[in-house]
Amino acid sequence: MNRKNFIKGIVGAGVIGSIPGFVIAQNTIKPSRKYPTMEMVGKRKPDLFGEDVKLRKRALEAFNDMRSAGFKAGINVYSQSSYRSFDHQKQIWNRKVKGAINNGDTPIKAVTDLIRSSTIPGTSRHHWGTEVDFIDMAVQPQPLDRLEVKNYKPGGEYEHLQYWLLDNAESYGFYLTYTDDPTRKGFKYEPWHYSYAELAVPIFKEFININWKEQLQDISIAGSHLFTPEFMDKYFRENILGISKKLLKM
Ligand SMILES: [Zn+2]
Repeated sequence: MNRKNFIKGIVGAGVIGSIPGFVIAQNTIKPSRKYPTMEMVGKRKPDLFGEDVKLRKRALEAFNDMRSAGFKAGINVYSQSSYRSFDHQKQIWNRKVKGAINNGDTPIKAVTDLIRSSTIPGTSRHHWGTEVDFIDMAVQPQPLDRLEVKNYKPGGEYEHLQYWLLDNAESYGFYLTYTDDPTRKGFKYEPWHYSYAELAVPIFKEFININWKEQLQDISIAGSHLFTPEFMDKYFRENILGISKKLLKM
């Protein structure tokens, strides 16, 4: 139905007449977005819940349910990292870029290597309040560097957590994001990073249609002068769209 007929339709149905002071507002007809851009790029905090873990409400409830179930299996499912703001991500990103350059990398090598394991601020799924990096706090002592693939492999400190997550996480709504699928590009395999799909999928669908590139033209982001249109198109294709096939198809 085109707009004119739509308006005629609702006038005919008496909808407009029944709303006092109604003016034909075009934006009542445009498809509306549910998640504000500033929230999706980490510059405005969504409503977050939790003490140590910070997540949107339904994601936190699922996290807590999962945690209770994990205890019964001797696993203390815990979050190493959940919500992160743009500024927090920028601190991490800038520290790593500058570190690599101090170690002798050219800026382009530093940035190209870093986008295999870190997200450019403004594009992290951790901005959404739907993502968790899982660790097992029942393990003592904790590994020195917690988020390392070797910890999640057989013989690693988080071996039991890993088996348990693969068997159970999806039934609580958490899906592995950066899988070990060899056809997947972008970020390397992250056995710890899960998305609460019920919220992360609709946010992702909105995020890929906003002008997130404009957030990257920020001279306070280390290496931002290297983010050419070609660089950003590749980053979009390989990194932002480079998530598990299950999540992409939802
Ligand atoms: Zn993560």
